[in-house]
Parts: sequence; C-alpha cells; structure tokens
Amino acid sequence: MHGRVVTTERLTPGMVRVVLGGDGLAGFTCDGCTDAYVNVAIPPAGAPYAAPFDVAEVTAGRPRGEWPARRRYTVRSWDADRRLLTLDVVVHGDAGVGGPWAANARPGDVLVFTGPGGGYRPDPAADWHLLAGDESALPAIAASLEAVPAGAPVVVRVVVDGPEHEIPLPSSGALDLVWLHRSGTPQDADLLPAAVRALPAWRGRLQAFVHGEAGEVREVRRHLLTERGATRADLSCSPYWRRTMTDEAWRQVKAAWTAEVERDVA
Ligand SMILES: Cc1cc2nc3c(=O)[nH]c(=O)nc-3n(C[C@H](O)[C@H](O)[C@H](O)COP(=O)(O)OP(=O)(O)OC[C@H]3O[C@@H](n4cnc5c(N)ncnc54)[C@H](O)[C@@H]3O)c2cc1C
Repeated sequence: MHGRVVTTERLTPGMVRVVLGGDGLAGFTCDGCTDAYVNVAIPPAGAPYAAPFDVAEVTAGRPRGEWPARRRYTVRSWDADRRLLTLDVVVHGDAGVGGPWAANARPGDVLVFTGPGGGYRPDPAADWHLLAGDESALPAIAASLEAVPAGAPVVVRVVVDGPEHEIPLPSSGALDLVWLHRSGTPQDADLLPAAVRALPAWRGRLQAFVHGEAGEVREVRRHLLTERGATRADLSCSPYWRRTMTDEAWRQVKAAWTAEVERDVA
C-alpha cells in the first residue's frame, strides 16, 4: 500500500503533519482503534528502486543494505470519503530516517507502508482515563481524546521540549491536561513518571494509555500496576522508542526488554 504526499505542515518546531492521498490508499481501512499505526518503508539514499515498491519483493530479492528502513507512525486520522491519511511525525534534529523523511517530504512524494495495526480505544465503561506519553504518542493521544465520551474524566500528561511544542488537544471529556517541559538534564527521564506518581488517589476503574520513550513507559507501568492497583487488561503500554537507540537497534533488544519489564511487576 502507498500514499502520495498531498500536503505537509509544521505543527510545532518538532512535528510535521504529512497528509497522504491517492489511489495507492484504495482498500485502506481503519477499524476504530485510536492508536492505529502504519509501518512505513523508507528506502536508503541512492536505492536502485523507486516507490511505489513491494516491500516483500525488495527484501526477498535485494541485499540487506538496499532494504527500506521500517518505522511505525500512528494514524492521526483517516478520511475514508476523501481518501486522506494523516500522520504526525516527530522531527528530532537531523537524526534518524523517519524524522528527516517527514521534514523533507514534498507534495507528490510517495510513502510505502503496511498495516494498519493497533488495539486501543477509550472504553466508555471506564470511570476515568489516563493518557500519558511524549511527542511520539501525541497523535494517538489526540485521536483518543476525540473518542473519550462527553464528560468522562480524562487526565493527560505529556512531555515535550517546551511550550512551542504543545498542540491543541480538544476533547469533549472532562480534561485535566498538564504539559511537562524538559530541561535538557538527566532528570527529564523522570518527568512523566513523577507526574503520574503525583496524581491523587483515584476511585473506580482506570483505563490507561501510556506510550512513548521506553524507560518512561516502563516506570509509569510499574507504578500503575504495583502501587495503584491498575489491571493489565486496562493498561495499554508501548515503548515506542528508546533513548540513544535507532529503531533498528531498539527492535533487536525489545523482546528482552519486555521480558525484563514484566519482572518489575512479577
Ligand atoms: C506503534 C507505534 C506508533 C508510533 N507512532 C508515532 C507517531 O505517530 N509519530 C512519531 O513521531 N513517532 C511515532 N512512533 C515512534 C517512532 O516510530 C520512533 O520514534 C522512531 O524511532 C522514529 O524513527 P527515526 O527514523 O526518526 O529515528 P531513529 O533512526 O529510530 O532514531 C535516531 C535517534 O533519534 C532518537 N529518537 C527516536 N525517536 C525519537 C523521538 N520521538 N524523540 C526524540 N528522539 C528520538 C533515537 O533514540 C536515536 O538516538 C511510533 C512507534 C510505534 C511503535
């Protein structure tokens, strides 16, 4: 599957909105998850093939050095009628593959992807909702906030570099939103966990969505499960990325990490 870039827009200094359209999206469907994501495939510079291409064919028939890099991005929105797929991509300096691709994307560029996957949606039966993460989770948090039932208590804690990195987060829920600003020190890694630990005691059934940097997600998950009585079934936790690691490096150690994280709550 592939989309052709229709527009790009800088939402913040560190986030680019890319809207994809075109016939390559025929057959794309999104089942209502608010964390639906696609797995994009970005060829290395100078690759001897051009998009659109078949990912399976490229990886079966070409040397590894020519394979496209894979990155996951949340479906911020899917307009089936107009066949428009919106992705909000974090641009974190010049590092990486996905960020630079989005920063340089121009109308007409083609993005190949597989998917979507995903599995979370705010449960109308929950007594309250917690949405916690960083910029990479903002697309899912924003989509989830649009799906929270009117008046439902929803607590949102998001880590970003500063006020200029905040985006509007409309919701018909009863919103308690706090932006947490990094200071560029090692203490930044504890901003999100500390903000969740500081929440007052709650009553009733919590449903939580905690996605973002792996170490931060791990500590929030541990806290919710071991100190707050949250249940696994009501937690959606995903380590989207790992500080200091490329996505390739992170995927290699992710299974061992997940097993270790499970020992936190054994
Ligand atoms: C299911 C899922 C959904 C996701 N949805 C989104 C989304 O909608 N938007 C989005 O932007 N990201 C999203 N991510 C995270 C994204 O896939 C990763 O951040 C990915 O590593 C970015 O690739 P890159 O090529 O830009 O950087 P990489 O080549 O992977 O990394 C290069 C360097 O940048 C660092 N880095 C990676 N990501 C970040 C970041 N967010 N902030 C600061 N430094 C970073 C790495 O630690 C490394 O040092 C999602 C991840 C998953 C698993």
